[in-house]
Amino acid sequence: MLTRADLLAHAPLLIAGPCAAETRERVIEIGEKVAAAGAHMYRAGLWKPRTNPESFQGVGTEGLPWLTELKEKTGLLVAVEVMEPEHIEETKGVVDVLWVGARNTQNFALLKALHDDPRPVMLKRGFILTMKEWIGAADYIGRDRVIMVERGIRTGADATRFTLDIGGALVMQKDYGMPVIIDPSHPAGRADLVPPLSLAAIAAGLDGLMVEVHTRPMESLGDTSQQLTPGEFEDLVTRVRAVHTARYGN
Ligand code: PEP
Ligand code: MN
Repeated sequence: MLTRADLLAHAPLLIAGPCAAETRERVIEIGEKVAAAGAHMYRAGLWKPRTNPESFQGVGTEGLPWLTELKEKTGLLVAVEVMEPEHIEETKGVVDVLWVGARNTQNFALLKALHDDPRPVMLKRGFILTMKEWIGAADYIGRDRVIMVERGIRTGADATRFTLDIGGALVMQKDYGMPVIIDPSHPAGRADLVPPLSLAAIAAGLDGLMVEVHTRPMESLGDTSQQLTPGEFEDLVTRVRAVHTARYGN
């Protein structure tokens, strides 16, 4: 069975994929490209937490066979956001790693349900959570199966979509002993800021990245302006590896 240690053996852990799984073709096309660029795991939302009910809500379980096909074709691991306890059961046998989105970090019914599943869980930080609240959420699941994901918090700084709290991520890593990866896409809100935020996180000593990548970002069904193209992601991976080597050696 896949464990958190297996994931962390990839240093830095690189996760990439679209905001949402949209069609079979796009899932496969994007997955093959991020695999070739060096990603270890594919991310794609099947259920999307959208601000408005009119927005694309995700394809749901219809996307599971697309992920199975992608895994067979590329050998990538796959990660999906669960929003309700039922999603845990529905993803069994296909999805390797589950993640909890920022809007659900304190959805205690969901966290308790995750406690009973053996898979590793990536736990995003809610928009305004303190360190104590964030680690408390991890304890509901079981700390040793959790990788924390800093994805930006709400502050008075409004130049970017959210404020990436690298300092807070380092405190979580150093003082609580948790692995912490960075999602640079949601705090950036725009593609050109994703590489510098990623490099800053790796230079700081954080454990990996979860990056939104789409073959045609402007045609995507959500988060259009922040998704990198596969070419931009490939370039980022090269630079991330260089920064990682400069920091830790080979
Ligand atoms: C996402 O990863 O697409 C997402 C919705 O992220 P967050 O929960 O961090 O807003
Ligand atoms: Mn997104």
